[in-house]
Amino acid sequence: MTVIEVDGTTRVWLARLGERVLAGGEVTREEAGRLFEIESSADIYDLMAWANRIRERYQGNRIHLCSIVNAKAGGCPENCKFCAQSAFHQTEAPRYGFVDPEPVRAAAAEAERNGVTALGLVAAWRGLEEGPMLEEVCTRIEELARDGRVRPDASLGILASQRVADRLKAAGLACYNHNLETSRRFFPEQCSTHTYDDRLKTIGYLKGAGLKVCSGGIIGLGETRVDRCELAWALRELEVDFVPLNILNPIPGTPYADNPPVAPIEILQTIACFRFILPRQEIMIAGGRAVNLRDTQSMVFLAGASALMVGNYLTTLNQPVAQDLQMLKDLRLDPEWSGSHGVEATA
Ligand code: SF4
Repeated sequence: MTVIEVDGTTRVWLARLGERVLAGGEVTREEAGRLFEIESSADIYDLMAWANRIRERYQGNRIHLCSIVNAKAGGCPENCKFCAQSAFHQTEAPRYGFVDPEPVRAAAAEAERNGVTALGLVAAWRGLEEGPMLEEVCTRIEELARDGRVRPDASLGILASQRVADRLKAAGLACYNHNLETSRRFFPEQCSTHTYDDRLKTIGYLKGAGLKVCSGGIIGLGETRVDRCELAWALRELEVDFVPLNILNPIPGTPYADNPPVAPIEILQTIACFRFILPRQEIMIAGGRAVNLRDTQSMVFLAGASALMVGNYLTTLNQPVAQDLQMLKDLRLDPEWSGSHGVEATA
C-alpha cells in the first residue's frame, strides 16, 4: 500500500487561517501568496474544505445565477489575445451590429424561464461615450428594468467619462462587468490597444455612479501563480461586488489556440484561494467551465464558488441550464431565483 506523505505543517497553518477568516479576519498578502503555491493534492483538498466553509459562512447555501446576451458580436477593435471576438484574430465567431429590442426581450424571457437572476448585455467593442449609441443601449436597459423579469446588467467595455456611467445608472442598470483580466504586470502581454489603468479608470466611474461592480479575470493565459494572486488582491483592494473567473477555452485563430489547459485541480485551487482572499464577494465561475473542468465541475462550490454563469457563453456553448440546476440540487444548494422558474431539475 502506498502511504501518501501529507504536509502536516500546511494542514495546521490552513486550519488557523481558515478559522481566522471564518471569524471575520483577513489573510495577509504574504499568506495569500503561499495559498497559491500549495502543491500537495491533500493540502489542496484541505484548502478547498476551508474555502467551502467560508462560502457557507458568508454566502449561505444559495448560488447566484447569471446569464448574458451577446448584444454586439465580433469585430472588436481591441487586440486581447484570448478573445475570439477581436478583429485582430481570424476566428469563426459570429459578427453582427448592436441588436434590435426583440433578441434582448427573448433573452430576458429565456433567463426568466431558467430562473436566472440577472441578464447582462455584452458588446464586443472598445467602449461607450456620450452619443446616440449610449442612448440606444440605455433604451434597451430601460426596457429590461421596466419589464422587471431580470436584473439588467451590462458589459460594454471602457467608459469614456463619469457622465456615461451616470447615464447607465439613470437608465436602471444595476451592475456593470469590467474585468481586470490578469495582473498589472501581465496585462500588457494580453492587450496593447488599451491599458490596465484604462480599466481601473472605468471601475472608478462605475463606483462613482453607485453601480455594483463585477470584475474578475481569466486564467490559462500563461500567467504565473503570483499573477493570479495579484489579480485577486487587486480585486480585493477595489472592493468589487462580483468576481467572475473565466478559464481559457483556446479558440482556433487566436494567439492562444494551442495554450496547454490548466489542470482541473489547479483551477479548483485558484477558486479556493480567491475565496480566502475575497470571503464576502460573489465568486462566479464563468466561461470555460465545462471544457476545462469536465467531471469536476460540481466541485467549484466545494472550492468556494457562490455564483454560476448559466446558458451559453459569448462564442462557445455551455451545458444545458437544466443540467446545472440538477447539479445544484444534487449538492443541496439553492439557486437564487428571480421570477417564475420554467426549467426544473428532474428528481
Ligand atoms: S475588449 Fe472585450 S470583446 Fe474586445 S477583444 Fe478585448 S475581451 Fe474581446
